[in-house]
Amino acid sequence: MKIGFIGLGNMGAPMAANLVKAGHEVTGFDVAGVTVDGVTPAGSAPEAAGGQDAVITMLPNGAILRSVYAEIVDAGTAGSVFIDCSTVDVESARAAHEMAAAKGLLSVDAPVSGGVGGASAGTLTFMAGGSAEAFGLANPLFEIMGKKAVHCGDAGAGQSAKICNNMLLGISMIGTCEAFALAEKLGLSAQKLFDVVSTSSGSCWSVNAYCPVPGVGPQSPADNDYKPGFAAELMLKDLKLSQQAASSVSAQTPMGAHATELYDAFVNDDGKGRDFSAMIERLK
Ligand code: NAD
Repeated sequence: MKIGFIGLGNMGAPMAANLVKAGHEVTGFDVAGVTVDGVTPAGSAPEAAGGQDAVITMLPNGAILRSVYAEIVDAGTAGSVFIDCSTVDVESARAAHEMAAAKGLLSVDAPVSGGVGGASAGTLTFMAGGSAEAFGLANPLFEIMGKKAVHCGDAGAGQSAKICNNMLLGISMIGTCEAFALAEKLGLSAQKLFDVVSTSSGSCWSVNAYCPVPGVGPQSPADNDYKPGFAAELMLKDLKLSQQAASSVSAQTPMGAHATELYDAFVNDDGKGRDFSAMIERLK
């Protein structure tokens, strides 16, 4: 396929590289002038989007997504698919779908889970929103860049799934950190708590796969001085998106709201650039 790729940052660059490796013809654009081996550089976003079978965006936020879509939808080829993999607010995702539909383009919102490691290894999970036809066109590309793609529903459903998942993750990580910090004060060893919880009703991904205590459970950022991993400021971004979405539909998310406050304080204090599991040190 001929693919345009806009936003070649930490995530976009390795994703584009994997499409090249799979034999696709990729043209890329990034405002920062980033280039990727095997990706033909374009001089602008519309140039990257023109005449392609698929156009992928991987951008920092919803405002930038809207401005880029405003520039590129005119360049799109009718019937081609526009795939946005950025994590953005649900309203911006739906606005992007509308801009694409107005020009006869198919579109998918498809945020990812798996981080930079997953982007490089081609093992991302895609959560997609859009029509079945659009998902069908995008899916072969998801199979190259990732290991799993779930078609979650109509426009915006991918972003909805992403923020619900990450709100739950933020809450469960704080709960995990609280439990291990309490155990320490009670004189209970972290290893023993792990042995119990990881096979008990408190088990969850934050305990079993990503334990915030060094030397306990599978290898995690805790074993690497809390280098991300998943940086605290990215968790904060996703928690804020969850709260924006919750207020837009009057959903009650008191734990999500509290997790947002705690990560906000952590990031604004000394958490920026550290893994989100370093929250345990703050609680201690
Ligand atoms: P990044 O900041 O490294 O990359 C974004 C890129 O977009 C930058 O290179 C920037 O120059 C470019 N850009 C900005 N405005 C542009 C424009 N108008 N036109 C063209 N390019 C433009 O960010 P990232 O870590 O690659 O993340 C990208 C998206 O993926 C974000 O929405 C993020 O929330 C999401 N995400 C990131 C991770 C992660 O671990 N990094 C994990 C899951 C999801």
